[in-house]
Amino acid sequence: MSARQLVLRQRAELLCALCCGGSSEGLESVLDLLLSWGMLFWEDYQNVRVPGRALCANTRVLLDLVYTKGDETCRLLLAAFKQVLPEAQRAGLSFGNCRTADLENTRDDTKELHGTAIQTLQTDRPGLVRRLRDRIEGALEVLLDTGSFTPSDCDEVQLPVYTPSQQARRLLDQVRSKGEPAAKVLLQYFQQTEDHPSPSNQESPPKECLSYQKKLRSTVSAQSHFLSTYGGTSSLSLEDIYTEGQLELAQGGSEAQPQTGALGLEDVVGLVGTLNQEADTVLVSGEAGSGKSTLLQRLHLLWARGAVLHDFFLLFPFSCRRLSSEQRELSLRELLFLHCCWPDGDQDRIFQFILDHPHLILFTFDGLDELMQSFSDSEQRHCCPTQCAPVPTLLFNLLQGSLMKGVRKVVTSRPEAVGPALKRYLRKEVLLKGFSPAGIDCFVRKHHRDPTVATRVLESLQSNTALLGLCHIPVFCWIVSKCYKELLGCGEGEGSPKTITDVYLMILQHFFQRRVSQRNTMGIGWVQEHQDTALHLGKLAMEGLGASCYVFTGTELQKCGVTEEDICMGFLIRSKDLSSSTNCKHYEFLHITMQCFFAALYIVLNNNLDRSTIPKLFQPQARQQQPGFHRACLGHCLTQQEGALMEANTAAETPNLQITATFVSGLLSQRHRSLLLLSCPGPTLDRKSKQVVTCLSKGMQKHFKSIPRPVEGEKKSMHAMPGFVWLIKCIHEMQDSRIARDTMAKLEVEHLKLTYCNIGPVECTALAYVLQHLRNPVGLQLDYNYVGDVGVEQLLPCLHVCHSVYLRHNNISDEGIRKLIEKGIQCERFQKIALFNNKLTDACTECFAHLLKMKQNFLSLRLGNNNITAAGAGQLAEGLRFNRSLQFLGLWGNKIGDKGAEAIANALKDSQTLVWLSLVDNGVGSAGACALAPLIKNSTLEELW
Ligand code: ADP
Repeated sequence: MSARQLVLRQRAELLCALCCGGSSEGLESVLDLLLSWGMLFWEDYQNVRVPGRALCANTRVLLDLVYTKGDETCRLLLAAFKQVLPEAQRAGLSFGNCRTADLENTRDDTKELHGTAIQTLQTDRPGLVRRLRDRIEGALEVLLDTGSFTPSDCDEVQLPVYTPSQQARRLLDQVRSKGEPAAKVLLQYFQQTEDHPSPSNQESPPKECLSYQKKLRSTVSAQSHFLSTYGGTSSLSLEDIYTEGQLELAQGGSEAQPQTGALGLEDVVGLVGTLNQEADTVLVSGEAGSGKSTLLQRLHLLWARGAVLHDFFLLFPFSCRRLSSEQRELSLRELLFLHCCWPDGDQDRIFQFILDHPHLILFTFDGLDELMQSFSDSEQRHCCPTQCAPVPTLLFNLLQGSLMKGVRKVVTSRPEAVGPALKRYLRKEVLLKGFSPAGIDCFVRKHHRDPTVATRVLESLQSNTALLGLCHIPVFCWIVSKCYKELLGCGEGEGSPKTITDVYLMILQHFFQRRVSQRNTMGIGWVQEHQDTALHLGKLAMEGLGASCYVFTGTELQKCGVTEEDICMGFLIRSKDLSSSTNCKHYEFLHITMQCFFAALYIVLNNNLDRSTIPKLFQPQARQQQPGFHRACLGHCLTQQEGALMEANTAAETPNLQITATFVSGLLSQRHRSLLLLSCPGPTLDRKSKQVVTCLSKGMQKHFKSIPRPVEGEKKSMHAMPGFVWLIKCIHEMQDSRIARDTMAKLEVEHLKLTYCNIGPVECTALAYVLQHLRNPVGLQLDYNYVGDVGVEQLLPCLHVCHSVYLRHNNISDEGIRKLIEKGIQCERFQKIALFNNKLTDACTECFAHLLKMKQNFLSLRLGNNNITAAGAGQLAEGLRFNRSLQFLGLWGNKIGDKGAEAIANALKDSQTLVWLSLVDNGVGSAGACALAPLIKNSTLEELW
């Protein structure tokens, strides 16, 4: 349906959306956008916004005007509504195909066209309103001083009935009426105050607060300049290397809406996706290495430079890892000043300012999963900002809003660590999904300034899809880029890295090599050569995991035998410590996954390991959760090595042990046997390896046993429980098809359901590796994950055992689907596919037509909620015409229109198999309906939607 028709059809709803609240803010924001995109002339604006006329009447005039201006203006009107309306109000409306990218282009075009200051005020109007509402008084002062405004002009702008945004608009309107010189004065004022934005309240902050802000900005800026993985070892700053990760809104368990337009960094804090207006806490969740800390760091840096988050006057960054080392009881005031930035000026005034202006303050907490204690809301209530309490109590009360209500908080965590107790207090949840394929490309090119090297690395990744899949996780992408010489050296054959363990062995070798390169090159026994270092660091890593400890003191290093030389290898880095209270050096592993890898090395290389360690490692969930486990235990753990591993209780514990177990599986695989044989006796390695295989097999059996008996008439179906995908990943690390076949032999289901299981490309590789050994065909249901095009490619090896594939809402585009269908055509059993809510367009319909022609046993094709138009429907029809098997065809929520419906109706008119057809919400009108009518006579058709 055209945008114009959409505006007409939804007139009542659009009117209601802007007027039902009684505030003119919505209408004015829409007008701001239309003005800035050049869709309204100034005269139009004045005709619409008539002071004193009812809001509804003004809105009606706007709708009439836009309708008469034509389709393009209607399209942008819908885009403006979409941008302005809160999520809840957008729910029932249809916005057609307005995309953010188009709007950006429009905006760029209009910008280029304009040159005068007045025109700049118009093109930048939405942003200027936002910036101006905090600085009305300052701007008026300047305009008055320069004679651009009279006192009565100022009074008119500042009428008490206006909100700050309305005052800002009246000011802009007034400046426009005064002409170009006044506009120039205002723009100049913006330029001068750019670096010193004042907070969004009417009064400007006291002098002490301004200088505190300055100090905080410079502290935060220094802290976030380098990434820990780059600091010291490379000249790359965060600025040089930062690559946008993929952000998605969590849908709070509801049926996911298609998310149009990518989320940007500022959206993390912004309004979009708000589920609970009352709550202050935004959660960013993602797997280890997906870039959560880096995202926060980027946000900090940009705030410190005054580039984003202008509404926040002060930003306090916290690391939960470091908060965990805080033994003292602190007040909120001490927490801010000791852990973030010590004020030089009057502390009382600064703190009072913070208390009085919660809406100007932002707190960030990185790595909630690494806090010693899991979040709980049964903790004692603590509301007093000056009274002392244990740090977790402060933190939990902050997140709940009992303390400092109104201060916005952003917290990052791995998904496993976030339970319902915390979810209740969330404003929204944003998922960080790592790099997109284009992101990988961009990162590699940023990492390698030499374009030839970058191209070679990218080519090498393209030829190794398993590795490419891994590179979606930024930390793996970093390792692969860092070890590019090793990568390029190993060619494309058997020796090239495939698994996560391979990747970490590569960086292990890389760091060791770096230290010996002056002397000589490393031989085959390179692990043995550095066995002591591996064991020292391994012991530290493992005991750290046992005590949920990720920051270590020099004494703790010593206790594990870690020497200066070991430190110099580069796996440990000095902790950034914002707290000035401690003088001793602290260390942490480059990344948590690195700590897990060293713990795994320790388990594998230590010949005196307790025999129960491996079995216990593989049952992390079965262990007792013991409250109150404390960092002070680390000393105790040092004497009880393996025992400690089994007792920790942070939220990160299970995922960390699972990552460690994954590495243990990889290291004990046959492929790495010769590497480790020089360090470990063969029989010991074999014994450990056998233990792993037994654990994996037993673990799988447990899952298989929990499969309920099928209800009569229904298929036997298994819904993956937590831990299933992890076991699959461990089996994949072993790279032994016999093990995969044996563990899978007992799985006898017809349907395997893995919806909402956080499945990305990495998991797809492992799934395909293992599932290809199933004896009987299954329906593989992967709905609501983030498989993407690369993941689809990873799944191909198991397609021959799938009779159905469900990939709803998985961010798949035409390119991915083409590869899937190409392979599917060759798979005899493959009969059904569901692709609702992906990114498919007419560019993929030809391959579906081909599938329909080639596969005369294909049963069900569901392509709802994609972007297929009449042209695509026409191509599908070509395939349908030749098909003699299809029973279900779903095209709900596309744009095939009358023409498309006619083509499909025509192609299906003689079908002897079609049972169900849906063309709902496709803009099909009378002509289409007439064409479809004869299908009803068809003897097999049961439902026509
Ligand atoms: P997490 O906090 O999710 O465990 P990190 O933010 O620590 O992950 O990321 C690990 C490493 O991956 C970083 O040190 C960096 O090398 C790389 N990385 C992560 N995100 C990005 C990004 N957006 N741009 C560039 N590199 C990134």
